[in-house]
Amino acid sequence: IALRPQAPLLPGRTLGVLGGGQLGRMFVHTAQAMGYGTVVLDPDPDSPAGQVSHHHIQAGYDDPQGLAELARLADAVTTEFENVPAAALATLAARRPVAPAANAVALAQDRAQEKAHFVRCGVRCAPYAVIASAEQLAAAPAELLPGILKTLRLGYDGKGQRRVTTAAELSAAWHSLGQQPCVLEQWLALALECSVIVARGADGSIVHLPVQRNLHRDAILAVTEVYAGNLPQALVEQALQAAISIANGLQYVGLLCVEFFVLQDGSLVVNEIAPRPHNSGHYSQNACDLSQFELQLRTLAGLPLTAPRQHSPAVMLNLLGELWFAQGAVAQTPPWAEVLALPGTHLHLYGKGQARPGRKMGHLNVTGPSPQAARATALKAAALLG
Ligand code: ADP
Ligand code: MG
Repeated sequence: IALRPQAPLLPGRTLGVLGGGQLGRMFVHTAQAMGYGTVVLDPDPDSPAGQVSHHHIQAGYDDPQGLAELARLADAVTTEFENVPAAALATLAARRPVAPAANAVALAQDRAQEKAHFVRCGVRCAPYAVIASAEQLAAAPAELLPGILKTLRLGYDGKGQRRVTTAAELSAAWHSLGQQPCVLEQWLALALECSVIVARGADGSIVHLPVQRNLHRDAILAVTEVYAGNLPQALVEQALQAAISIANGLQYVGLLCVEFFVLQDGSLVVNEIAPRPHNSGHYSQNACDLSQFELQLRTLAGLPLTAPRQHSPAVMLNLLGELWFAQGAVAQTPPWAEVLALPGTHLHLYGKGQARPGRKMGHLNVTGPSPQAARATALKAAALLG
């Protein structure tokens, strides 16, 4: 049985984060702005969140001593990293309130369990088959081809995925992934991608951010655009209902992102869930009166959840490591002064020492008085960044 705060954890208490990446860093910034103490557990001595937290426990996610220290220092613990061992969350949950719960994180870590949950909730996902053995490979339904083979576990930003068109390619792809358990999904003709972030409290109350429209490049999120009229209203309502069913079905406590595909026939298909803040929710920092990080904090601390309101149309540009090499082979600082001369630009950098292609180094939130203005500024910023 999960421990829950008896009363809200108020500023002055200490909040813990398992994982020290950029999502943890932005959670820590939010918690500190509200007067909370923070403690981060991450093995990297220079992790983005560890750099800014009051306490940084430098230990592996499954290190018993590190976890004991985290439970000692923190009044409640959340996670920012999808692949933390669910067992570590379960260990912590014996001593402190933990949100999200280990079982929800474990489900989100396994594409087969995740899809089975969508089916249970009556939310449509891509046709799929689990391929964990040579028998299942041989029996893979032909109608799933052309398809995309994804490892059940540990995939992110398109890693651990292979597109396949024939049975022979499927077999080669499964072997190239080391014959590890995978799902084969039918390749869908996408019109667009969108996502929604919901925050659900221990009392079952639930609020959400606006439905976000996402553009991926090479399977990595590149741009998120959020403003009224950007998506058909019927789709927005369907996505919200689906996300709420998925969260309620898990009795989820915490912040949850649900990613969707919109097919060319206009229908909605759920892709995957993330039991943590999400890259596609970063615009909320500057465009909404409650950011996804404050929503995460409120669910963790047992504070009231009020409905977030978006006050500005927004475009978020992801800043990947390539930008540091736009002018040549030697890393250079991107032209921040020029970018920040554009009205409504908000720079967020994650404190990562080394830029590498594909590495998420930061993001730029662009807000404007109108969707047109925000988009025009985002285009100018993108042109400056090359
Ligand atoms: P990750 O965990 O790496 O984010 P996703 O399953 O979300 O993996 O896939 C990454 C991207 O690849 C998606 O956002 C989408 O653009 C594309 N993609 C994934 N699965 C499919 C599919 N079945 N049909 C079409 N496009 C897909
Ligand atoms: Mg994804």
